[in-house]
Amino acid sequence: MSKSVVIVGGGTAGWMTASYLKAAFGDRLAVTLVESRNVPTIGVGEASFSTIRHFFAYLGLEESDWMPECHATYKLGIRYDNWRAEGHHFYHPFERPRTVEGVSLADWWLRKKPSADYDRDCSVIAALCEAKSSPRQFEGGLLTLGAGEQDPAAVGRSTMAQQTTQFPYAYQFDATLLAKLLTGYGTDRGVRHVLDDVVDVAVDEHGDISHVRTKESGDLSGDLFVDCTGFRSLLLNKKLGVPFLSYQDTLPNDSAVALRVPMEMADQGMGPYTRASAQAAGWIWTIPLYGRTGTGYVYASDYCTPEEAERTLRAYVGPAAEDLEANHIRMRIGRSENSWVNNCVAIGLSSGFVEPLESTGIFFIQNAIEQLVKHFPGGREDEQLRVSYNRQVAHVMDGVREFLVLHYVAAKRNDNAYWRDAKTRTMPDALAGRIEQWKVKLPDEDTIFPYYHGFEPYSYTAMILGLGGLDVQPLPGLALMDDIAAVKELQLVRDQARSLVETLPSHADYIAHVHRRR
Ligand code: FAD
Repeated sequence: MSKSVVIVGGGTAGWMTASYLKAAFGDRLAVTLVESRNVPTIGVGEASFSTIRHFFAYLGLEESDWMPECHATYKLGIRYDNWRAEGHHFYHPFERPRTVEGVSLADWWLRKKPSADYDRDCSVIAALCEAKSSPRQFEGGLLTLGAGEQDPAAVGRSTMAQQTTQFPYAYQFDATLLAKLLTGYGTDRGVRHVLDDVVDVAVDEHGDISHVRTKESGDLSGDLFVDCTGFRSLLLNKKLGVPFLSYQDTLPNDSAVALRVPMEMADQGMGPYTRASAQAAGWIWTIPLYGRTGTGYVYASDYCTPEEAERTLRAYVGPAAEDLEANHIRMRIGRSENSWVNNCVAIGLSSGFVEPLESTGIFFIQNAIEQLVKHFPGGREDEQLRVSYNRQVAHVMDGVREFLVLHYVAAKRNDNAYWRDAKTRTMPDALAGRIEQWKVKLPDEDTIFPYYHGFEPYSYTAMILGLGGLDVQPLPGLALMDDIAAVKELQLVRDQARSLVETLPSHADYIAHVHRRR
């Protein structure tokens, strides 16, 4: 039975893993985390996925325990600007469409098209995004859409497997502050924290890591080693030589430049969403936090130089960008062939990464940690446990890759080589066939990537109908059906949205209120 774990790396991945292992196994597992004072963390990674609430729930942390500490805000979805055409925008909201007469409201919408905006016609959340509303009342009550959302506070300890309904929001937070908070959480529960550089990794005759050597703190031994060293992947890829499978042929964005922009809360209404604004060679993210905005340009270096990218980003941000230092990042897109080999498991950027268009980096980490707990090694069956772990982790990343490639193929934007090439570039194997299928019938459980990867058919539908580049046909059978119930439901969505917009506080006011209570 593994009883001691050594985690190398103290970024979001390292501290999420350390604190989660302590929450799962308590004192029955010794956890040591070693992080370098000299190698900085990636310094980005602020928007999350709607399953993140299970991470905090598992740790027993309520929103009031961590949100103010991490300058957190709510995220009801992602706003896509200019992906269809200049000036156009739509939302990918955290909301499943309703079902009318056994058929998705999305299919009815395609038949009836009450307006050009699928998102705002069929989703209450999209309307709340437009109005910049908070998903909570001042006294804390959560909006209800009638779909049985459960308030995180009422759920108790939970995991992603318990995500049966679509929860209406995720969070945006300062990742450095989150790592700091989790450092306190972990060390309070017995994580041994070593601040030092790992200078060597020793492997025994079976190919297992026996210890890591540090510069000043001696050798750190353990039964299991978790590689959280970021893109360096010091243990898994470098020392154990596990191959890295690049996704670059299908997702060419390989670089980013980021800025941290101070924001006066009172001056600017704060959208409860992450914004992805299409650019000449990629897209710019805008993530509003309490007191500052995180922003950056993700681009393909084949189409844009770092200097051009930084100029574009500064122009996008405007005068607030003056005197701010830009963080240039080279991204390694793809995944390790196996993220767990022998007694070494890589979690975070060391395992794999896709561009942050759907904020999946931290989701990958959370998924890996939950799977690690489920597959925790104990003896003779370890090899089979590793096989099962590696299969699940690979499916999650491969599935997200497909979903992201769809974003570029389905985007109507076609105005330069970057956007045109996106339509003819190599696709993951089965995606081309799936797209043909979706043109005649919107995505469902049977036609999307067949393994769990965090995204449901509704997300695919929201993107296809928002991006506008695919010629999608309504179901012919709907023309023969009575549409009274569908028309009524579309009106109900509008009425519910109006009523919620009138009664919910603004996102900016609610977040200011949360931070005042601190
Ligand atoms: P890092 O933050 O790089 O940490 C590596 C750690 O290893 C550091 O503590 C370092 O000191 C340590 N280390 C390295 N070498 C040594 C050594 N020799 N000895 C000791 N310690 C060592 N994810 C999202 O979910 N949402 C987003 O919006 C998002 N945006 C992103 C934007 C960009 C441009 C990029 C590149 C990533 C983004 N991500 C996002 C992903 C997210 O940033 C990462 O998943 C997350 O920060 C985890 O990083 P990490 O801990 O794996 O690596």
